[in-house]
Amino acid sequence: MKSWSCIEKCGACCKFNLNERTDLANKLNSQDIALIESMTCDDGWCKNMDRKNKQCLIYENRPHFCRVNEFSMQFKDYLKFGDKFLIDCCKQHISSNYGNKSIEMKNFKIATTKK
Ligand code: SF4
Ligand code: SF4
Repeated sequence: MKSWSCIEKCGACCKFNLNERTDLANKLNSQDIALIESMTCDDGWCKNMDRKNKQCLIYENRPHFCRVNEFSMQFKDYLKFGDKFLIDCCKQHISSNYGNKSIEMKNFKIATTKK
């Protein structure tokens, strides 16, 4: 079975458009939404992301909704499908932000199939 793994130099999930994320509606409170709005640039990317290196600048102090291992517990599909759910989510983010043939997608597939 494939295991989910976050890869370095990705950050594909650090681009927010809450209007497109109806799946998050009942998982974020008003403070979370205000925080997301305050840390989102006009083009959708998080202000805390070092775009050149694709790294979170506040990694140790990132919000709870950025902590995949914690936040995923709120998703019924994670409880049902486990890592497959996370892998599919990452592939969606990577595909929409970098493309299916991107180096990020290639590295993610390698990281999630070798285990
Ligand atoms: S999309 Fe997945 S692999 Fe990429 S940074 Fe986010 S959690 Fe990590
Ligand atoms: S706080 Fe860090 S992990 Fe969260 S969206 Fe911004 S850059 Fe990504």
